[in-house]
Amino acid sequence: MSINYIQHFSECIDGIKAEGRYRYFAQLERIVGDFPNAIYTNPSGERKQVKIWCGNDYLGMGQNPVVIKAAHEAIDRCGTGAGGTRNISGTMTYHVDLEESVADLHHKDAGLVFSSGYVANEGTLSTLGKLLPDCVIFSDELNHASMVHGIRMSKCEKYIFRHNDVEHLEYLLKSVDISRPKIIAFESVYSMEGDIGPISIIADLAEKYNAITYLDEVHAVGIYGSRGGGITDELGIMDRIDIIEGTFGKGYGSMGGFITGNRYIIDAIRSFASGFIFTTSLPPATLAASLASVEYLKSSSKERKKLHSNVRFFKKIIRKAGLKFYDGDTHIVPLIVGEPICCREITNILLNEYNIYVQPINYPTVPRGTERLRLTASSVHTTEDIQAMADTLEHLWIHNHVFNNIKTSQDDVLLSV
Ligand SMILES: *Cc1c(COP(=O)(O)O)cnc(C)c1O
Repeated sequence: MSINYIQHFSECIDGIKAEGRYRYFAQLERIVGDFPNAIYTNPSGERKQVKIWCGNDYLGMGQNPVVIKAAHEAIDRCGTGAGGTRNISGTMTYHVDLEESVADLHHKDAGLVFSSGYVANEGTLSTLGKLLPDCVIFSDELNHASMVHGIRMSKCEKYIFRHNDVEHLEYLLKSVDISRPKIIAFESVYSMEGDIGPISIIADLAEKYNAITYLDEVHAVGIYGSRGGGITDELGIMDRIDIIEGTFGKGYGSMGGFITGNRYIIDAIRSFASGFIFTTSLPPATLAASLASVEYLKSSSKERKKLHSNVRFFKKIIRKAGLKFYDGDTHIVPLIVGEPICCREITNILLNEYNIYVQPINYPTVPRGTERLRLTASSVHTTEDIQAMADTLEHLWIHNHVFNNIKTSQDDVLLSV
């Protein structure tokens, strides 16, 4: 019997719906000048104003007047699209300037800009792995999907080390012939846990076992360090990492990804990475916005300070309210629910009754049983916004009987970490 294609796909969807992990996209229009407020349109087409509590524009740079002005000027000067791939008529002055700007950000020889952080991770890791003969890749088990994909595409032998477990990493490094090329791929701020990788120790291990280090600073660039270089900037250890990867799409409020590193490594990626070469380059307005944002945050710390003080305040009051979250010492606050259907139910109540938008984070983004609300206060949330959010969560958690069953599962999950 031959396959009924349509029925097959419809059953695939039914499967994830039954598990409570079908993805519903919330339709939003962010209101410039008034972030984190946005207009939400529900499935019946009704519109209302909501506050976003799960965004990655942590510093409100998407509405920063300097950034907006740069984007406007670029469109007025050069139009919309880049008009080609980087190799064929699509390299503009904006690309060159932005690559110099990120190289300077990390005190590296060179930088390379990609369409997104995803493409940067996928393209760089797959290419490094292909170019290095008989290479072995060591990867943290919680690395982002884009790194996982890049590593898979490299077709290298790979070892997954337990999250942030340097003893496990060393055990695995030891098991491989010292003379083989090795890459250790990990993150500074883990996006779904909100914790920080043991960067210095991993750099020590890399030296000891002759590996190169690849660090994803996507959730840290712009946000940490005196010039926004990320956690390695904050700790003064940028020079200990071979390749630092970041995005313009989160803390910088724009779009695009990048890597920085030694000039020969960067040139090799530029020359061999398919996802870099065979695609139309980013357009002028986006590049100009990214450049303005990176440069702005090299000298302005007030957005960073506001973000971190807002997050400290938020953590303090939800902790006092008895809510349990992973406190990984960063701006990301994962509130564990531990069950996908309740996780969605809570976010529906927040949206429908309290005009607060939080997207539930379910499997496969996080392991089953650790479904969560990933809460992100930003520098543009007000004290009142933060207090109101904490009060609402407290009310839902403590007083709403719907959540009695999840409270037990939340305790189980938190006990197991
Ligand atoms: C979002 C994310 C990326 C991808 O960056 P984009 O610019 O959004 O494609 C890479 N790594 C991590 C850890 C992320 O959270």
